[in-house]
Amino acid sequence: MPARLRKGLIATATRIAFCVVLGIAASPATKSADPGIRFADFHGPVLRATQLHLIYWGIDWTGTLPPTADRITAAVRTMMASSFMTGLHQYRGIGRGTLRDATTVTEPDAPILFDDHEVGDFLDALFDAGRIARPDTGNQNLYLVMTPFGTRSRDRSYAGEHSYYVHAGRRVHFAWITHRTTLAETTALLSHEVVEAVTDPEGSGVLGVDGTCHRFGWCEISDVCSPTGVIDGVVVQSYWSNAEGACVVMDAPPGGAPRVQRAHQTPDDVHLVVDEPRLRPSRRREP
Ligand SMILES: [Zn+2]
Repeated sequence: MPARLRKGLIATATRIAFCVVLGIAASPATKSADPGIRFADFHGPVLRATQLHLIYWGIDWTGTLPPTADRITAAVRTMMASSFMTGLHQYRGIGRGTLRDATTVTEPDAPILFDDHEVGDFLDALFDAGRIARPDTGNQNLYLVMTPFGTRSRDRSYAGEHSYYVHAGRRVHFAWITHRTTLAETTALLSHEVVEAVTDPEGSGVLGVDGTCHRFGWCEISDVCSPTGVIDGVVVQSYWSNAEGACVVMDAPPGGAPRVQRAHQTPDDVHLVVDEPRLRPSRRREP
């Protein structure tokens, strides 16, 4: 497809793409039920068996500055096979995903500033060079680009984003997250992007009904949930469960059946930097 058209599609997607997770630090926990939160299936694509491609962009990822690429990769592999994913079953039967591969790309090095267009161009170059697999026929693929320390989005208010564009006739579902200083912050932010890219890769899948979110962009199931939890040793962000009417993390004890745990805000929760207070999730519910 001509680059101009592809870029047009990127721009369209970007304008409506959701943002991230931007913390909660200053807000008291909401104790009362919030009947306004509900998510519905708008019947667009979802990724029921995600094939995740992790791409570490930049020479800094070859260093030993924590969190290292190896540790992040190990945590993500665990997360994709865990109850974090099977807990999404209520949303059109979404289940476990697979970490398909992890690739570190040092040439070209990551730019200090980037946007969705540049991430798309970067991925296209990797496809064309045969360095990462193009989307499969079933297109369960999700490309997650990790940018290194010292880089940021041109739009400072976003710490991560997911969206899609079209390359060679296939939709490329992608996400990026900016560098976090700890493994826990990294996996919390990454889990937010993954769960929303899986349930709503193109802005037409599982979305909040009117009144669920109060900000611009796709209203997705982690946007109303700030608390984090730990699954199989990996810190993840909670997401909204319609079935529970709450933000939850799914726990699966060894040898036992998965069970729902309502997510609680605790002093140990990961608080990501709030660059833009208006983007703070305006609603959440806690038991
Ligand atoms: Zn989000």
